[in-house]
Amino acid sequence: MNSKYEVLKDIFGHESFRSFQEDVVDTIIGGQDVLTILPTGGGKSLCYQLPTLLMQGVTIVISPLIALMQDQVKALNDLNISAEMISSLQSSDENSFTLQKLLQGELKFLYVAPERFTSNEFVGVLQRININYFVIDEAHCVSAWGHEFRAEYRNLDRLKQFFPDTSICAFTATATKKVEADIANSLRLNNPKHFRAKTKRDNLDIKVEPRVSNGKRQILNFLKTHRGMCGIIYTFTRKEAEGIAKFLCDENYKAAAYHAGLSVDVKNRVFEDFVYERVDIVVATIAFGMGIDKSNIRFVVHTSMPKTLENYYQEIGRAGRDGDMSYVYLLYSKADEVKRKIQIEEAIDDGYKSTSLEKLEFMYRYCVSNNCRHKIIASYFEDEIPSCETLCDNCTKGEVEQVDVSVDAQKLLSAIFRCEQRFGINHIVDVLRGSKNQKLLEFGHDKLSVYNIGSQKSKNEWIAICDKLIDIQALELGEFRALKISDLGMKILKGKEKLFIDSDKLGLLVKQEEEDLELSFDDKVFEEFKTLRREIANENEVPAYVIFGDKTLKELSQKLPITKEEFLEINGVGKVRFEKYGNAFLEACQKIKEENKEEIENKAPSKKLTKTYLETLELIENEKTLEEIAQIRDLGISSILSHLSLLYEHKKLSQNKKQELLEPIKIPSEIKQWIEQGLQYESLKELRQYLYLYEYFKKESN
Ligand SMILES: [Zn+2]
Repeated sequence: MNSKYEVLKDIFGHESFRSFQEDVVDTIIGGQDVLTILPTGGGKSLCYQLPTLLMQGVTIVISPLIALMQDQVKALNDLNISAEMISSLQSSDENSFTLQKLLQGELKFLYVAPERFTSNEFVGVLQRININYFVIDEAHCVSAWGHEFRAEYRNLDRLKQFFPDTSICAFTATATKKVEADIANSLRLNNPKHFRAKTKRDNLDIKVEPRVSNGKRQILNFLKTHRGMCGIIYTFTRKEAEGIAKFLCDENYKAAAYHAGLSVDVKNRVFEDFVYERVDIVVATIAFGMGIDKSNIRFVVHTSMPKTLENYYQEIGRAGRDGDMSYVYLLYSKADEVKRKIQIEEAIDDGYKSTSLEKLEFMYRYCVSNNCRHKIIASYFEDEIPSCETLCDNCTKGEVEQVDVSVDAQKLLSAIFRCEQRFGINHIVDVLRGSKNQKLLEFGHDKLSVYNIGSQKSKNEWIAICDKLIDIQALELGEFRALKISDLGMKILKGKEKLFIDSDKLGLLVKQEEEDLELSFDDKVFEEFKTLRREIANENEVPAYVIFGDKTLKELSQKLPITKEEFLEINGVGKVRFEKYGNAFLEACQKIKEENKEEIENKAPSKKLTKTYLETLELIENEKTLEEIAQIRDLGISSILSHLSLLYEHKKLSQNKKQELLEPIKIPSEIKQWIEQGLQYESLKELRQYLYLYEYFKKESN
């Protein structure tokens, strides 16, 4: 039988497990119940897909998301693993055919929706087959305390009743401690092993900003600095989704709108276009993204504040599931909170009104906070982490200048007062800026003393000041969003209190330099590979990311392998995928290499010299030998050799010096023999080191 490491490499194409994936895999194989809280992008599917390949029987995966099931089945079939799904999407003929395959023991995976378990007939079929374990995806849906309770999940307590000896593996991306306990209880898990990953997503760069007007300019600036990437923009309303999609198309982006008001056909097409990379940006209401398995979503933008931090965390979690750097950007205003509040108040059947309001309040505090964003999210999920320091706007912005806007605030408050506190912000700004708007003239507000006293400030700046006043409760929102002045507001109006505002919150949109960055050679190759991948995806009708992930394509563009062996060294390339798609990419590599000889020779070094390389360099300059360096630095000799290569590439090391360092290392003459026999050796690590040396010298002597 294969080892888990062989399956990992040959089927999934990974050299090693990511943090605690291995523990989860081992626990599942050991037959114990498992409850895993793993943020999106933490490598969840591998955790439950790998064990079954080492076990007898079929795995039943229960998921509420049909689109996700569909993608997973496709991806598994693409790896030559027999998987099917039963859902309302399939005809009853198809479903009974699948059940037959199941009864004949021809399946490794069956994906089903939770509502199937209300059918005794279906449960009866399952009782006749050999199930190795159940997987329950999105397990937080079972808990009424969670943010997405689904009634059909309640039936899943039947699992332990009907299959007392089959283990259950429950997975969710988000759960507070309370929800976690509720999941274990509701599913009647038997002494489950709990795994909880750190909530921090190390590859997410978070930015939150007050929205200026409709936010379109801000989105455009964001997209300009994230050119060529694909992502999702979430909007509050359908109309807004349509509007922004159109706006982006006019700006030459490949964007499409997606919301519940569209026909099924249109929705399916947008979904497919996104997955097959014919569209880069989907502008959607929250109806989009549930069940998106696309691993290379590079950004998620919110044009308004989500309802809860759980929703937000789950939505931003859709970015960067391949582990590559991704960007999330949230635009908010005080008005969002008010709108959401009305939504909650109006929902008659919401039995959790006060919880919902608390969650909303927390979400808003997150937006306006000056603390590390990652830290706030973690604390919400009762996880404690240090500040990220480099991955959020608050950690990286440094000291922010405070601007005294007391006089402007007085003008604003005075305008509100003169308009008898009966108007919303738009009308007030019109008054301040001397608009000739019909409504304003009808009310005779052009006769007021405050008319046109604020034309030197933009509308956006006035809104930012108004937001600040609402923030500190100097203003309140009354019926029809009319602005009312509070006691604190009166003090500011009378000049008894001052008002300061963070300069970056003033809404002064600094026009971002429109840098048209020259793409590097690697980037150009990456783009070429993406095109090739898109073609193959369309031909084979599989999602693009299933073929090779972005990370793999990036590594390919840097290394441009030309042999099968070199190709298999690339992370994310297993044997199965290589057999299917490898040759097309190998040919492309060959062609690129031939056509760009000069450019490749003069290529800038692939990696930056970080601290660790420089430490090695310092030791080299102090005349240490390679072995001494390895010892001092407590690193393997192979690491030091890779440092050497990079230092040489960066011209920090001369050819002579490199030779001199390598001189004392003699390769045992029996190395070839050793390699042949290598697989019988106990220590794989030792073998790898020697193989590395062997490869290295082979390259050197060429
Ligand atoms: Zn931070």
